[in-house]
Amino acid sequence: MFLDAIWGWFSMDMGIDLGTCNTLVCVRNEGIVLNEPSVVAVRKGTNVVLNNGEAVGLVAREMLGKTPGSISAIRPLKDGVISDFEITEAMLSYFINKVHGRGGFKPRVVIAVPSGITAVERRAVVDSAERAGARKVYLVDEPMAAGIGAGLPITEPTASMIVDIGGGTTEVAIMSLADISTCESIRVGGDDMDEAIINHLKRTYNLLIGEPRAEQVKIQLGSASPLEQELTMEIAGRDTISGLPRKIVITSEEIREALKEPISSIIEAATKTLEKAEPELAADLIDNGMYLCGGGALLRGMDTIFSNATGLTAKRVEEPLTCVARGTSVYLENLELWKDTMDHNGFGWE
Ligand code: ADP
Ligand code: MG
Repeated sequence: MFLDAIWGWFSMDMGIDLGTCNTLVCVRNEGIVLNEPSVVAVRKGTNVVLNNGEAVGLVAREMLGKTPGSISAIRPLKDGVISDFEITEAMLSYFINKVHGRGGFKPRVVIAVPSGITAVERRAVVDSAERAGARKVYLVDEPMAAGIGAGLPITEPTASMIVDIGGGTTEVAIMSLADISTCESIRVGGDDMDEAIINHLKRTYNLLIGEPRAEQVKIQLGSASPLEQELTMEIAGRDTISGLPRKIVITSEEIREALKEPISSIIEAATKTLEKAEPELAADLIDNGMYLCGGGALLRGMDTIFSNATGLTAKRVEEPLTCVARGTSVYLENLELWKDTMDHNGFGWE
């Protein structure tokens, strides 16, 4: 451990938030050094990553619009499970090498993974990171990293509750004494909100829009509970009947209605977790409240709807998009502290 600490000063140890939508890398004393979409561009119908394995992240997203025919974009973690090991490995090694560069001491790497992934998938993440040049790889469950990043007292004998609303998944966990006591992971997140907006416009106005535009509507106009000042927005798309481009004006009220279904599923995951919680921990939450993070926590009125539905105070963490990545970095600095909880995960400690 002592040697490891010395080594740590010379190598670029890093914490990675391997998200369904975005991957972030955090390095000690430098903060977030990489923040890119978890996207890989491959030649259609193959596993061949374009640009000699470098069409990953921002580059991959940029390439997409330009040569749409022969290229497909893959989000290998889209549903919180690893859909393709080879592509996930290509993505992880590209990001690790981008931060680490060539040469120098091999880094230690902490990776936050969705808590729903299987033991086989965990092994694959560890192997990939090792092949990408990591000296030692530690996995941490995403809600745990989120709790650390948000500065919650998760090592203490009191309950901390995290609801992490990502792109493809939502993870809910109640933690205490540096371990997860109860958790729930569902494959509903921001992507499903985008899809709900696409469906609403198609059904109501016969207007077809793509995912990027739907996401823009969600961010500009979306809400989970009534706004003091309701909003409107002009949106362009293709008419499904005439096939021609058309513009319409939509309101925040109708988008809120459209988002109801995915948001109810997310709330249900939180109430289910609360129902399963140990009574003592559930009681703690009356004072401690719950914390919302992940990009979905940025939706207007999300805290209000959670507070109303659960009767607990729901607060959005500061900087919900970077909270897991910052948590992995803090985790890395205090590895000794987590030793006991790492053992039963089967990774990290011999
Ligand atoms: P993951 O951890 O799964 O990679 P993130 O925590 O990075 O996901 O969150 C990405 C999701 O958050 C996307 O669905 C994105 O559209 C959504 N998002 C980002 N900003 C906002 C915002 N201001 N309002 C609502 N949703 C947002
Ligand atoms: Mg996340």
